[in-house]
Amino acid sequence: MAKTALTLEAQRGRARQVFERLRAAYPDLRCTLDFNGPLELLIATILAAQCTDARVNIVTKNLFRKYRKPADYVNAPIEELQEDIRPCGFYRSKARSIVNTCAKLIDRFDGVVPGTIEELLSLDGVGRKTANVILGECFGMQGIIVDTHCTRINRRLGFTKHADPVKIERDLMKVWPEDHWTLFSHAMVFHGRAVCTARAPRCSQCPVADLCPFPSSKEGKRIAK
Ligand code: SF4
Repeated sequence: MAKTALTLEAQRGRARQVFERLRAAYPDLRCTLDFNGPLELLIATILAAQCTDARVNIVTKNLFRKYRKPADYVNAPIEELQEDIRPCGFYRSKARSIVNTCAKLIDRFDGVVPGTIEELLSLDGVGRKTANVILGECFGMQGIIVDTHCTRINRRLGFTKHADPVKIERDLMKVWPEDHWTLFSHAMVFHGRAVCTARAPRCSQCPVADLCPFPSSKEGKRIAK
């Protein structure tokens, strides 16, 4: 029991060091989706599934000028909305998701994006990842955003062994500094794109290499060859 508590304490200390170093390495940490207010972020996160944030930002530049409130999405001809979001891919299912979400916003929340995780999860197309992005960015609440970068890097760092996002989030809630969950999540995206990439992580250039067990693991050594 005492050993477990000590280990957890050590993990917490290591996680804080990782965060501080990544924050220093990427001083402009932020959400890389462009938005103004929770509705725009909600729509942008739906569009971002299987699409790059850069492409979403190009599309939403015009989209957000044209569609300003939930009713605008619900009342638009579906073919027109599909065409407006087409470059983001999966445009038929994303358009359907946007319309269903906006219809629920109107029916249940007076057209306003709610500010609790339970209410957000009741909306179509909103999972824990999206809910935590919205809570963190728009409602000042700390949320861990478990995406592909977060999963990969935290498995390599040894903060979780799981692949299931809910279990990963639970593990990280125990070790990540609670006052920086949102910023730490953004750090994962920046670090995952720049250094800790999926296929060939650049461990020799990584600012947290001495805190990470991966380079000395079997897989890490194989990649380094
Ligand atoms: S040392 Fe390698 S595996 Fe660990 S975080 Fe850095 S790049 Fe990723």
